[in-house]
Amino acid sequence: MSKEFNILLAQVHEIRDLAATLALLEWDMQTYLPAGAADGRAAQMETLAGVVHEKLTSRAFAHALESAEAAKYEPGSFEAALLRKLRNNFEKERKMPARLVREIGAASSAAYGAWLRAREEQKFSSFAPHLEKLLKLRQEQSALYTPAAHPLDPLLDDYEEGLTVAEIDPVFAVLRKEQTALVREAADRKQPDDSFLHDHPFSTKKQLELARFAAKRIGYDFRRGRIDLTEHPFTTSFGLSDVRITTKAFPQLPLSCLFSTIHEAGHAIYEQGIDRKFDRTPLADGASLAFHESQSRLWENQVGRGLPFWRWFYPYMQRKFPGELGTISLERFYGAINRVECSLVRIEADEATYNLHILLRYDLEKALFENRLSVEELPEAWNEKMRQYLGLVPPNDLAGVLQDVHWAGGSFGYFPTYALGNLIAAQVWSLAHKEIPDLDEEIASGRFAAFRAFLREKVHHFGASLPPRELLRKLTGTEKINPAPFLAYLREKYLP
Ligand code: ZN
Repeated sequence: MSKEFNILLAQVHEIRDLAATLALLEWDMQTYLPAGAADGRAAQMETLAGVVHEKLTSRAFAHALESAEAAKYEPGSFEAALLRKLRNNFEKERKMPARLVREIGAASSAAYGAWLRAREEQKFSSFAPHLEKLLKLRQEQSALYTPAAHPLDPLLDDYEEGLTVAEIDPVFAVLRKEQTALVREAADRKQPDDSFLHDHPFSTKKQLELARFAAKRIGYDFRRGRIDLTEHPFTTSFGLSDVRITTKAFPQLPLSCLFSTIHEAGHAIYEQGIDRKFDRTPLADGASLAFHESQSRLWENQVGRGLPFWRWFYPYMQRKFPGELGTISLERFYGAINRVECSLVRIEADEATYNLHILLRYDLEKALFENRLSVEELPEAWNEKMRQYLGLVPPNDLAGVLQDVHWAGGSFGYFPTYALGNLIAAQVWSLAHKEIPDLDEEIASGRFAAFRAFLREKVHHFGASLPPRELLRKLTGTEKINPAPFLAYLREKYLP
């Protein structure tokens, strides 16, 4: 390591520590902050965010980066990976005028408030002008990054390095054709009865105990993490030695706490598996949002909703809830938790229908950015797409175009990463079965170490040191996201 690199690294550590502190304040705000302390906390966070931004865009940092880049580093080395990541971020930041950053920030907070009010009234119209404004600002941002083949490309890249409309379109075209047909066929079959899950309340205390037990057994390291309760579950990291998750529990939805905990534990296990030498740098992160989501979905769906998992776990669940589940067989239970049902709300969608909700949003985002669709026409267009993809029409905007917070927060181009995460998860799952032939038996015995070691070696330990497409190529031999393993997985599970 050169002297110049060490000077840069010291600055990177300092910025990362400040950002981790900011994340800790945010975590506290979501978990334990007294209601009356919100204003004070908002001010503290704004101050700290300002300091982080200032340091990242400072002359001193630019100079340190440039000086460190003067030396040559082995491709694939820590130094080369960090410099690549920092240069990338720096160029992106530099293209954004401070005025635009401020305007997007202000427009997002106003839009968020308007979105909450519009939801109460179940009417899109009062939110529309705010969305219009955010869309204009994001289009302005996109135009800074010319030449882009599609105006959505620069925004996609913010969540998934290198992702473009040209790459997504053919993948989603396959899903549009095959997943819709598959879902129709599966949903038309008689669905198992799941009334026993909803006709009495399940103790939330016991649900939480089970969720903690499952998280521990699949490999979430509680010495470097903890679980708390929040309205919206999330994973957050204050460095590789402290990756926390949150969850929530409802008496009438006995599986929601478990699956949500396994999902977040999947995100956290990813981060806990990152090479420790990346700590306190931007390499101590997932390769991309889609990769991150692939890890949470893999644990939640392929593992957590699979039969092998329940062969192992169901006796624990029955022992916790003898009155509720004592007479329910494993087969009946497994059927009940794997129903396929077209529904209106993305976050309540099952694994078979979920991607269709994403296709809908992606189609609309594209149309908005190509100016083929106006914000005013959006609710209509949403309902029409919902009818096409899922055969349903929302009774009001709350169950339709107002359901997600993403657009209200000014995030366009985020949604595709959810679907791509599902596809990557299935690619990884199929590879894991090749490498670990008795994977299903391992899981059915409650043994997850071999699977976790596979994930760590193939995905986790790289952190953000590789661009996501390069990681995918290392993993699968090709940079292309392939929908086939996902479709095969669904077909095998739902249309045997
Ligand atoms: Zn997630």
